[in-house]
Amino acid sequence: MTEDEAGLSSLQGSKYVQSDAGACFPEVERELRAGREVLFSGTPCQVAGLKGYLGRDWTNLVTVDLVCHGVPSEVMFHGLVAALERRYGKRVVDLRFRCKHGGWGHSMLLVRLRPFGETSTCDDEDVQIQASDFTYYDLFLRRMILRDSCYACPFASPIRPGDLTVGDFWGVEDNRPDVLLDGRFDVERGISCLLVNNMHGREALERFGRDLDLCEVEFEDIAKGNDQLRHPSTKPTDRELYLTTFRDGDWNSVEALWRRRERGVRYRVREAAKRVLPKGVRRFFKHLISR
Ligand SMILES: Cc1cc2nc3c(=O)[nH]c(=O)nc-3n(C[C@H](O)[C@H](O)[C@H](O)COP(=O)(O)OP(=O)(O)OC[C@H]3O[C@@H](n4cnc5c(N)ncnc54)[C@H](O)[C@@H]3O)c2cc1C
Repeated sequence: MTEDEAGLSSLQGSKYVQSDAGACFPEVERELRAGREVLFSGTPCQVAGLKGYLGRDWTNLVTVDLVCHGVPSEVMFHGLVAALERRYGKRVVDLRFRCKHGGWGHSMLLVRLRPFGETSTCDDEDVQIQASDFTYYDLFLRRMILRDSCYACPFASPIRPGDLTVGDFWGVEDNRPDVLLDGRFDVERGISCLLVNNMHGREALERFGRDLDLCEVEFEDIAKGNDQLRHPSTKPTDRELYLTTFRDGDWNSVEALWRRRERGVRYRVREAAKRVLPKGVRRFFKHLISR
């Protein structure tokens, strides 16, 4: 929870792990009862959870949910952190999942390390890891390690619990190329989507969104690139194997399995093809193979 701009940075950034938002529900209620304005953002299930907790509408509350395809469990995340600490021999004090230095589609992960027993930030060291080489991130994106409930999420639909919904406008180049014509938006830097779900959301946008660079599009334009606006993630067949491997071993066992299954010869050939063949030619071969 924050009251000023400086405090916003700790809220910012997608954290790909289950978070416990319930702890702040009573605080939100207290602020609302005191007549203060509150903006609550979180995964759709957390927004619905807050509304269930409050049990009534408040005009001084604005809710924002995320387009969300699911979250991995905290236990797995702790397993990852323990493995990173063993690998680097230092404590992990921060982990940024989407550090967009290289642009929207070229995600890097940033791990901040500090010597064990040290409290000052003087000896902190930042390590950048390519997203495609980060097992946890790849398994998260491929829906392999999400919580069981996420595969039956009732909020992965066009009907949203939040007054507003924020997400990535994936596929904008194909679905609405006209948006890019006047140069206001830059695919390399990233383009977000914002769904206005009700009148309260529209009023909030009119009041607070004056500095946003906006362009109106249809819901379908966004949903085409973001499946979880229509249905929950599908459970991959390999999921059980990864979960048992983690349960019977540790994060390193998961990593070893992932390297064997996902980073073998097929992957290397695909990546090499991506580098040398134009998109149209790749599509043609893909079509041929699938026939
Ligand atoms: C678990 C998860 C799954 C996602 N899946 C998709 C997807 O399928 N499609 C898509 O387009 N985008 C997805 N996103 C990205 C999401 O759409 C972006 O966070 C959103 O676009 C806001 O981005 P931003 O850069 O404007 O805000 P940011 O500065 O990134 O702010 C993110 C907001 O989300 C909150 N938040 C971050 N992590 C969590 C968390 N673990 N639990 C609850 N709240 C959190 C923060 O407090 C902050 O308010 C996902 C994000 C998360 C956390």
